Amino acid sequence: MNIDGLKFSVIGGGIGGLAAALALRQRGAQVTVLEQAPALTEVGAGLQISANGMAVLRALGVVGNVPENGQLSHGTILRHYRKGRLISRIPAPAAGPTYYYHRADLLNLLHRASVKAGVDVRLGARVSNVVKHPSESEVVLDNGERLRSECVIAADGGRSTIRPILNGIEDPQFTHQIAWRATIPWSQREEMPRASLTMGPGRHVVTYPLRDQRMMNVVAIEERSDWQEEGWRLQGEPDDLRARFADFGGPVGDILAEVTEAHLWALFLRPIAKSWQNGRLALLGDAAHPTLPFMAQGACLALEDAWILARSFESQSGATQALAAYENQRQPRARQVVAAAGANARNFHLRGPMRLAAQMALMAIGAQLAKKYEWIYSYDATT
Ligand SMILES: Cc1cc2nc3c(=O)[nH]c(=O)nc-3n(C[C@H](O)[C@H](O)[C@H](O)COP(=O)(O)OP(=O)(O)OC[C@H]3O[C@@H](n4cnc5c(N)ncnc54)[C@H](O)[C@@H]3O)c2cc1C
Repeated sequence: MNIDGLKFSVIGGGIGGLAAALALRQRGAQVTVLEQAPALTEVGAGLQISANGMAVLRALGVVGNVPENGQLSHGTILRHYRKGRLISRIPAPAAGPTYYYHRADLLNLLHRASVKAGVDVRLGARVSNVVKHPSESEVVLDNGERLRSECVIAADGGRSTIRPILNGIEDPQFTHQIAWRATIPWSQREEMPRASLTMGPGRHVVTYPLRDQRMMNVVAIEERSDWQEEGWRLQGEPDDLRARFADFGGPVGDILAEVTEAHLWALFLRPIAKSWQNGRLALLGDAAHPTLPFMAQGACLALEDAWILARSFESQSGATQALAAYENQRQPRARQVVAAAGANARNFHLRGPMRLAAQMALMAIGAQLAKKYEWIYSYDATT
């Protein structure tokens, strides 16, 4: 199907929405992105983009062979929580390099490329509803404005307003996991810009460098049952963070001592959507398949979705067929990756004898661990 001049509305100017808008625009579509935020800014937080996500960014022309603003990963160090003893080194995946991005930098790259390609990105535009007409969809904005287009892509995140139109109201489940997020100066801690994963009972801490090794991204995850509020970017107290990880020593103890500002992200999750599309409206990214962050794949999946969605229009005869093909192709992959992330939540937080046994296994097979997930990283949506 030729989509030259065909109108698309994309709800959400996050990584998934902007990538989809750009991929559709590059095939000739007329695309409007509607983003509720008045500006595309992000609180300090990093993203790991593995080879499968990088393949899409490259194919979109958003990054070159030496990615701008990305920090090349040299693998991950696994540490014991008490004194930071090295348990194992996991090499970078064979499928290709992972890059660490500041989320704001990646959003800027996507935004810049989209605008340059001719995507109309409208900020401060919150969508409240989508109405399906026989041959069109209509987006209704909070300010009462209505916008008609052939197709609507809802990339409005894990708390999607649009998903209930296709799936009814679903209450999110609290996963009993809280993510603390912070950035601190890197201070030349390690000569190699590696990530580290420090696992303790019911908690783990991930660190990795950002922005030419000038900054360190810190994510500390803890299991907690006393939480009511679904949300991210809640302000957290650094002293509370330190108290909750007080038994974490070695390098991570030093890192937590330096945190001056922290945000809390309560991990509430809806299941993978049963219905992703209705022939005129499709869900994309976290709106379709929210995931725990324990495989660092949410943004990568959203990038894959964006490419496959746009390509489905090329290979199918009409919009209805294209959106159905997109759903058929993406559902199984998203299910597998989301399940792998869920399994990691259990592995990272083991207690007692189970944890000791797992650590012994990691010491023995750590170097081969990257191979276990090669099926995730070697997937190339663009080929
Ligand atoms: C602690 C943590 C660490 C993570 N680390 C990684 C990682 O290392 N690698 C990785 O690949 N993924 C990671 N993820 C996951 C990743 O952040 C998400 O999967 C990804 O951001 C999803 O992109 P998206 O575009 O689907 O949704 P979002 O990024 O949530 O974007 C949705 C956009 O839609 C807008 N919006 C919402 N509602 C409306 C509306 N009604 N009208 C208009 N606009 C609207 C929002 O303002 C937002 O800009 C992590 C997640 C967490 C919680």
